[in-house]
Amino acid sequence: MLPQILPKDKLADFARFLMGEYRLAAPVAKGHQFAFEFIETPEDVGRIRMDYDITILPPKKFLHPMYEELLRFGGRDPATGEAPIQAEPTVILGAHPYDLHAIATTDAAMRAEPADPYYATKRDATLLIGINIRGYVNDEQFMADMRTTEPPEGGWDLFMTDLGDRYYVEVGSDAGSKLHQAAGMFTQAAGDDHKAKQAFDNEKASNLPKRLPYDTRYLPELMSESYDSLLWDAVARRCFSCGTCTNVCPTCYCFDVQDKLNLDAASGVRRRQWDSCQLHTFAEVAGGENFREHRSSRLRHRMFRKGKFIYEQTGKPGCVGCGRCSVHCVADISILEAYQQIADEAAVSAMEIAAAREESQ
Ligand code: SF4
Ligand code: SF4
Repeated sequence: MLPQILPKDKLADFARFLMGEYRLAAPVAKGHQFAFEFIETPEDVGRIRMDYDITILPPKKFLHPMYEELLRFGGRDPATGEAPIQAEPTVILGAHPYDLHAIATTDAAMRAEPADPYYATKRDATLLIGINIRGYVNDEQFMADMRTTEPPEGGWDLFMTDLGDRYYVEVGSDAGSKLHQAAGMFTQAAGDDHKAKQAFDNEKASNLPKRLPYDTRYLPELMSESYDSLLWDAVARRCFSCGTCTNVCPTCYCFDVQDKLNLDAASGVRRRQWDSCQLHTFAEVAGGENFREHRSSRLRHRMFRKGKFIYEQTGKPGCVGCGRCSVHCVADISILEAYQQIADEAAVSAMEIAAAREESQ
């Protein structure tokens, strides 16, 4: 499907066109930061900021909301229960490539059989329109290391690159193709557009150097070697177990399920809400046993989820290198720094082993 061009002054019209068929979510300014929000009225399209740096929460909140009703039950008879599994057709406009990767990772986890029907229904009803990045926006990002600077293989519909007065729009799916055709304001990209896109890509590549001293294909292995490292104790001494890092993470999807009973003590609502492996109660089970009682084991678990477990489970990156967890951590705990340190430790232990071998010969 050939790339298309959308004149920049047509973006508002395109957004209004989308609102005719879908609920539209897009990035808007929130104080000095940015957030994805639903655009409620046609007048509000002027709030859309395709030039945002990074949003506080990733777009996962539309697919896996912070609070979600799972079941309404009317009495002791389970047949009276009602599960509100439904979704309105939605477009998420303006997702950066690393957030598209994070959705692909969450898809792999939540849509694997048996699929989570609440997530899958929303995801099936959602189209994704991405927007390209120009480079890092803070020192905690490492998308180049995690290979998330370009959109993933599939799972998105349109992908836009800002060429100044126009957007260069790549088409990723049949739904994306139908969308731009129905909008009637796109034209096929020509030679100058392709050249301008190439120039954009060249500049982008130079703005996104790798920041880790190793190829992240070896990250799961390095994580394994670091399991007993004192690093986790040292870092955890600064951690408050607040759970902010997991809330802002685009690939975190753990949740807790609670029943809220009405006064009749029989009817009520079952709902889920985001949970965090950093909270003390996360791994607590009946009888009071806690599998990750110590802060260091919880912190290590998060780092292992991101650097090893999710990748091994889904084949997709468990961390997309967006830097949100580090930027928002009240204790300045940096996942990039931790991934640098495990490599330093592995190098030191490799040198020690080599020295010990030499001595014993
Ligand atoms: S945000 Fe920082 S302080 Fe809070 S749980 Fe995460 S690592 Fe610990
Ligand atoms: S672990 Fe941190 S850097 Fe990695 S995807 Fe989550 S928020 Fe982004």
